[in-house]
Amino acid sequence: MRADLTAAGIKIVHHGRLTWEALELTGESDDSVVFDDEYPIDYKTCSSAMFKRIERAQSYGDLIRSPFIWIRHYPAQMQAYMLMLQKRLSVLFFKDKEGGARYLMDVELDQKYASFLIEGIRYINDCVKKEDPPKAEMKEACDACGFADHCFPGVERGASAGNLEIVTEETWLMKLKEYQILIDRGVQQTAKEFDKLDKEIKEEFRGRRVLCGSHLIESKPYFVPFYDVPKEEKEKYLKQREQFRTSIKLAAQAL
Ligand code: SF4
Repeated sequence: MRADLTAAGIKIVHHGRLTWEALELTGESDDSVVFDDEYPIDYKTCSSAMFKRIERAQSYGDLIRSPFIWIRHYPAQMQAYMLMLQKRLSVLFFKDKEGGARYLMDVELDQKYASFLIEGIRYINDCVKKEDPPKAEMKEACDACGFADHCFPGVERGASAGNLEIVTEETWLMKLKEYQILIDRGVQQTAKEFDKLDKEIKEEFRGRRVLCGSHLIESKPYFVPFYDVPKEEKEKYLKQREQFRTSIKLAAQAL
């Protein structure tokens, strides 16, 4: 992705490790692109499905409100780089790793959002100094967090957690988010989209107990009695019972 920029004649500089001592914050921005000034740029590759969602986003504000935690991290990361490099504008450069498409998104320094992030960092630093961690609540981010054993001692996780599997694949996280959106809109009774998704999810997780994002999917077998009688035997008992199908229509349309 860096090669795309240099091929287009765009000058790039690399700042290496960035440090904000007062906040005990460090990071390493990928690069800065040079126009009238230097603007931090970060390269992100993502699946085609996620790329399409990002492309549809109106601005970085939509990324801040994304249901996916790793997407919410992107604009936060850029705010930190801009503060550390004292810039007012930065760029997120996305690449669809399956289809190869590219998309550039401006991320402005957002004072209100940056203050919220700084406040969070100060709070964490304070907790660390006092050795007084806040009470942990299990969230989506905990699935892949290295501190999980510290926050939830004794709670088994991953494949070892009984028969509970933790699924973090982006495809299923996204499908379950879509599923929940349809339920929240109250369209599950009528939407074909919902039926398709419902079937797909149930087929994928048949016979499994899975935690995927904020959804717990439990699929257990149950047994329905049936008579396993050979066809020829069954036919001996075949009879016709009279039944009625009734339609009710407006007469003007039916005649
Ligand atoms: S496990 Fe990680 S993400 Fe979850 S509460 Fe603890 S530190 Fe936060």
